[in-house]
Amino acid sequence: MPDQPSQPCGSRDDLRIEQSRCLPNRYSESSCRRCVAICPRQAISVDEHLRVDPNRCTGCLLCTTVCPSGALETNQPFDTCLAALRKIEKPTLGCCRTNASANATLACLGGLSDEHLLSLVHSLTGTLQLNLSSCQECPNSTMLDRLTERLRRLADQGTGQGKCRISTVEDEVALRVEQEQLNRRSFFSSFRSVLFQSAAVVVNATQQSADHRSEYAEKRVPERRQLLNRTLRALPTEPGQWITTHYSHQLTFSKNCSACQGCVASCPTGALRTKDRKQRPEFLQLNCTGCGLCVEFCLDQAITLSPARN
Ligand code: SF4
Ligand code: SF4
Repeated sequence: MPDQPSQPCGSRDDLRIEQSRCLPNRYSESSCRRCVAICPRQAISVDEHLRVDPNRCTGCLLCTTVCPSGALETNQPFDTCLAALRKIEKPTLGCCRTNASANATLACLGGLSDEHLLSLVHSLTGTLQLNLSSCQECPNSTMLDRLTERLRRLADQGTGQGKCRISTVEDEVALRVEQEQLNRRSFFSSFRSVLFQSAAVVVNATQQSADHRSEYAEKRVPERRQLLNRTLRALPTEPGQWITTHYSHQLTFSKNCSACQGCVASCPTGALRTKDRKQRPEFLQLNCTGCGLCVEFCLDQAITLSPARN
């Protein structure tokens, strides 16, 4: 059994699960176990169907940073968080343990994927502080290594020349949280937005369960990929190309392809589309997350998938 946290640290309720999008649920031969491999609590199993044990899961959200199909996503609207950070010159992003010392919060910062970090460095200017001052004592502390490694890798790669630098603050004494200076107009607009957000939370809580069910045939671009595509659309050519090169895939069909359209049915994101039933499917690069299910599913072994930078 996990430790019982004395302070909040996120929970299984911060996860949204969509069974029909999980790759082994779509095709029993799928080898995808990315979520199982990253979960520090051994809370996830996919052998019969995707299941997250609520007694083990402490809501670190690491699984949402690797799931390529959108089967595991977070309930939180990241755009709201980004909008709050944009209002501050030197903003601070925290979690549910540090919400008194942050301008915006996520349930756990372990849910910050490459796509979230790229969105932050390209949407903000100056310096963004990540408040990690409570992480060491948190039951989710294992996410620290993952997040640090992710930040280091992105910094080494150049992060696509973003305008914002991300600094991590682990000592509360070193933290300087700037408050938003509200004039009368922005006070009312922010008050309205808080009311709107609270209403949205109530609607979410009453209308949605944490486990969302959708039809197998329903295609949807996962939220992380949607976020990346929104970031891309707002960027000038050079950094946009950098992101496309590092975060997209190329897909090719060999002469073995019999145009059976099986890959179109298996793809969870709608990246493969039938144009003419007698011809090879069309590939929509911006919808593809590189999950690899089409490659595993193709009986003709006709599909090659590779990172675009190759
Ligand atoms: S990472 Fe996503 S698609 Fe893969 S097994 Fe886990 S839930 Fe399923
Ligand atoms: S095209 Fe293939 S690799 Fe890309 S999302 Fe669809 S199934 Fe996954």
